[in-house]
Amino acid sequence: MHPELDSLPLPALARHLRTIGVGEHHAPRVFRGLHRTRCAIPQIEGLGRHAKTLEKYGRRTQAKVIAVHDNPDETQKLLLELGDGARVESVIVPMRHDRATLCVSSQVGCAMACTFCATGTLGLRRSLTAGEILAQVHLAAEQMHRDARRLTRVVFMGMGEPLAAYDAVRDAVSILLDPHGPCMAAKHITVSTVGLVPRIRQLALDTGGRIQLALSLHAGTDETRAAIVPISRRYTIADLREALLAWPLPGSRALMVEVVVLPGINDDRANLDGIAAFMQDLRAVVNLIPFNPFPGAPFRTPTPDETLSMRDGLLDRGVLTKVRWPRGRAVHGACGQLMLHSG
Ligand code: SF4
Repeated sequence: MHPELDSLPLPALARHLRTIGVGEHHAPRVFRGLHRTRCAIPQIEGLGRHAKTLEKYGRRTQAKVIAVHDNPDETQKLLLELGDGARVESVIVPMRHDRATLCVSSQVGCAMACTFCATGTLGLRRSLTAGEILAQVHLAAEQMHRDARRLTRVVFMGMGEPLAAYDAVRDAVSILLDPHGPCMAAKHITVSTVGLVPRIRQLALDTGGRIQLALSLHAGTDETRAAIVPISRRYTIADLREALLAWPLPGSRALMVEVVVLPGINDDRANLDGIAAFMQDLRAVVNLIPFNPFPGAPFRTPTPDETLSMRDGLLDRGVLTKVRWPRGRAVHGACGQLMLHSG
C-alpha cells in the first residue's frame, strides 16, 4: 500500500518523492501543503504535473470529528472517527488568555491496563499513525479557531501509551517541530509514559531531550506500583530513576513525575518516602492527579483534603509538588477517563 503522506517527516517525504520520480526539492513545499496550509494535493503551489503522480502514489490520512462534548469548565472533548472506523478522543484544555493545550491520543485503547484508568479497561485495538496523531492536532486547532483560541501546547496524555506507539509518536513530534510544518516549540510538546525504559532512552536520543517528558510513577514502592501499573513488573522504580537521570535535560527545565492520588493505596508513609527518594537529585516536579472516577473503577475519588495532605507530605520531604485539579470530569475527559464514552 502507498504510504500515508501526512505521516512522513520531511526527510522521509523527500525520499518518497525521489522514489516516485518527483524531485525531492519539492519536499518542503509538499510538506508545507500537508501540515501548514492543509490543502489538497492539486492545490499545492508549484507542483504542476507532479500533483497527479503524488496522488497516485500516496494517501492522505482520513479523520473527522464526529462529536464535540462541552464541559462546564470549558474543557472540550472531541470524538474522532478514523479511516477504518476506529474512534479516538482528544481533549482541548483552555489555558489563560486565548491559549489552549491539546491532549492527544496515541493508540485506540491501551494494553498497559493501569487499574485507575478507563482506557486501560478497553485493551489495545491498534496504535495510531503519525498522520492520525497530527489529524487530532489539526482538527482541534480548527475547533479552537472557531472559539477564538489558539493551540499552544500538545501533550501526549490521551488514550494509549505513547512509547508503545513509538515510531508514530516520534514522527508526529518531528513533524510538529519542523520549521516547514507547524513549527511548535519543543518545550511545548510533552510526551508522557508509564515507564517503558528502553524507549525513554531511545526518545532521549531521538529528540536530544528537547521535548518535555512526563513519567507516570504513581507509587513510591515497587510493590504498590506493581499492584496498580502492571507494566512495572518489567521495570523497577530504580530502572525508571536511572532512565530519568540520563535524560539530557536542557537549561532550567524540569521533568514531570505524575502521581495519581489513590487514598489508602499510595498515600502512606512508605510510598511518600519512596517518591521522595525517587526525586532526590532529579530535576523534576511531582504533579499529583486526584483519581478521576469511571464506571466499575476499583478506587474512590480522594477528597480535596486527602489530596492536599499527600501534597503536604511530599512538600515536607522536600519534593517540589503541585496538584493538577481535575478538568473535564463532566464529559469524561479528565485524566484516565477516556474510554469512548458517548457523553
Ligand atoms: S494510564 Fe496511560 S498507559 Fe495506563 S492504561 Fe491508561 S492510557 Fe494506558
